[in-house]
Amino acid sequence: MISHLKPINVFMNEPKQPSEIAREALKFLAVRQLAPTPANYQACYNEIAGIPNQSAFPEAQLRELSSALQARSESQEVQLDKLSAAISRRSWEGVRMALVAFTAVDEGRAQDNKHVAPDVLPHDFSIKLARFIECALPALGDSDSRIARLTNELLQVLKRPLAPFEAVQGFLGGMAHQAVFAAEEQAEIKESLLKLLQLIVENIRDLSVDDSWLKGQVDGLLASITPPLTLRHLDEMERRLRDVMEKQGRAKMLSVQAQEEMHKMLAEFVEQLGAMNRSSTEFEGRIEASARQIESVATVEDLKPLLNDVLVATHAMAEETAHSREQLKSLQEKVVVTEAELIHLHQELDSASALARHDPLTDALNRKGLEEALAREIASMQRKGTSLSISLLDIDNFKKLNDSLGHEAGDRALVHLAEVTRGNMRPSDTLARYGGEEFVVLMPDTQLEQGIEAMARLQRELTKSIYMAGKEKILITFSAGVAQLTPDETGADAIRRADQAMYLAKRAGKNRVMGG
Ligand code: GH3
Ligand code: MG
Ligand code: MG
Repeated sequence: MISHLKPINVFMNEPKQPSEIAREALKFLAVRQLAPTPANYQACYNEIAGIPNQSAFPEAQLRELSSALQARSESQEVQLDKLSAAISRRSWEGVRMALVAFTAVDEGRAQDNKHVAPDVLPHDFSIKLARFIECALPALGDSDSRIARLTNELLQVLKRPLAPFEAVQGFLGGMAHQAVFAAEEQAEIKESLLKLLQLIVENIRDLSVDDSWLKGQVDGLLASITPPLTLRHLDEMERRLRDVMEKQGRAKMLSVQAQEEMHKMLAEFVEQLGAMNRSSTEFEGRIEASARQIESVATVEDLKPLLNDVLVATHAMAEETAHSREQLKSLQEKVVVTEAELIHLHQELDSASALARHDPLTDALNRKGLEEALAREIASMQRKGTSLSISLLDIDNFKKLNDSLGHEAGDRALVHLAEVTRGNMRPSDTLARYGGEEFVVLMPDTQLEQGIEAMARLQRELTKSIYMAGKEKILITFSAGVAQLTPDETGADAIRRADQAMYLAKRAGKNRVMGG
């Protein structure tokens, strides 16, 4: 550096010629073994000429430096502006101040960040975090052992009185990474399960004795196997599957019975044929024996008893044949009757098929029936400019009733509720079974408040007409939600609102009615 040059004695009183100064400056460079750069030459020249040694302001280099700096905050941006202004002013002091302030701002940020991150976590926070992780973990399934291992280690750390922040952060980072994969896998498992269920249901349809009678149920079931999966959805699927299985079981039983009947009749028929054959062989034997004897007799007198024998045998044969014919005729009649029974049975099953609009247990409309009734009521409401309220009611604690008294008692309770409801609603109202123990009541020409009142009235009636399960008195209650259809919503939307209101009624303690 130029400032490191040692002082040199020079005569200051007599100014030197520039050529002389230049020569001496070159000598200086050689004596001091300095690199022959323009800056060193200038420094030597100035020293000999007695000119103060001022280096040039490196504007270009400073501009380059300034453009290489990147502001990460507004205050750093301000400092960069100041730096640029200082360069323009060629002020070293300004450059220095701007650079110092620029780096100080950055350090400040680093300091701030350090304050956010504590060394250890507050204990109650880590316990809550541990509990949350324990609850959320099962949702990720158990196929990935790495998550289980990471979680166990993390839980151990979290349950320590002083859980180190950095370790927890590291674990959480690792778990988040694994959890993304696990969650994707869970979603795929769910999708595959649904596909599997769909296949099973389609298979049931293909296996069924007669396509048409099961088609309705199976189509409904297939329609309900659509994401998103909710518990309500699954419950509905289970109920429908049970329905299908029960009906299929009944059909199979009846069909087996009919087949057994046919077998029995065929066996009898074959036996009859055998008997006929036996008697005709016997007859043939007797006739043959008589013929042989006839050949050997000489007198008509001797022939007489033989002819008598033949006559008796023929008579017996004729009787036998007539009897067999009778029996065959009655068998034939039986077959016709059984055939008719089978046809009737199939017709009965058909009526429980896709064409049926009623739930066979409660005789309320089924989902299909409800859909049509709802469309009719909405059209009529729009035509007449009247109102329509829809109520969705769900029996309270029905599972308990099933569990304690059995499924059949549960079924009878459903029938009881449907009967009481029908007995207390207006003739223009419609009752439909919406799901397992859920019913929908369509109330045309009814405002929301009136609808709520009607449901509350039904609740009072239900407490009066006690349901008897054997000798046991059972009080059935329900929770209901009522929605009045708005002009711009669909029936399904209104049912959804009623469902939400019903859910609120459950949450508020059950056995009550809420408006949606
Ligand atoms: P909540 O008061 O919250 O409605 O409780 P809940 O027990 O009534 O409701 P949840 O949905 O848990 O249970 C409904 C039960 O109804 C489950 C199912 O087994 C039963 N169920 C559904 N359909 C039928 C049916 O046709 N007959 C009978 N007996 N039970 C049914
Ligand atoms: Mg329910
Ligand atoms: Mg219920």
